[in-house]
Amino acid sequence: MNHSFEGPVALLGGTFDPIHYGHIKPALTLADTLGWQQIRLQPCFSPPHRKPPEASDQQRLQMVRLAAELDCRLVADDWELRQGQPTRTVHTLSHLQAEYPRQSLHFIMGMDSFLSLTSWLNWQQLLTLAHLVVLPRPGYELNNASATLQQLLVNAETDKPAELQSGSGRIYIAQTPAFNISATELRQQLKDNPDCPELLPLNIFQYIRQQGLYQ
Ligand code: ATP
Repeated sequence: MNHSFEGPVALLGGTFDPIHYGHIKPALTLADTLGWQQIRLQPCFSPPHRKPPEASDQQRLQMVRLAAELDCRLVADDWELRQGQPTRTVHTLSHLQAEYPRQSLHFIMGMDSFLSLTSWLNWQQLLTLAHLVVLPRPGYELNNASATLQQLLVNAETDKPAELQSGSGRIYIAQTPAFNISATELRQQLKDNPDCPELLPLNIFQYIRQQGLYQ
């Protein structure tokens, strides 16, 4: 496919049950710094290692579509859901690479996910497909990284956005403000409180109420 832009394409995958500002705001803050033309928000097919999401696939996708209304660089991507089975990140990135052969790919992940990177399927291959952009998350510190991950950082970490404009394999630890929120806590807040929590866009809150989700 021949896309008309050159800058990096960012991918943020998640359960998004629901998507919240802890996902969206750091991504938008980084978009200018890292030159992202697109931030593809990709709800995952129900991951095998976790209990099923409360919202259905279509509801999680619809909430991501509503989030994408906030900024023209946000794109709701239903590729993983359309596979009809859980998809590993290496496969998703391989698919994106085929779709955007001229662009560098940036895979966005929270610090909690990054700390478990070496347990992911073919994690080394992941670094041949994309750069990693790691978002700070309260309670998760790089000091707790395994020896393998520390060694990886020695070789691959960069704080220079220019080094992420092409190729793959660099790791950028973002200095964006940390958001102390998880979807799990947010679902509890939605059960306990009739008002829109601060960490959720209003249009998504209205959809949640209209669908009777998280009660
Ligand atoms: P749960 O509470 O169910 O674990 P979650 O809030 O962690 O959900 P996910 O959809 O599983 O949300 O997360 C998708 C990605 O976003 C992961 O890489 C995760 O690390 C990251 N992420 C989620 N919340 C935050 C946050 N508050 N700050 C930084 N990264 C986050």
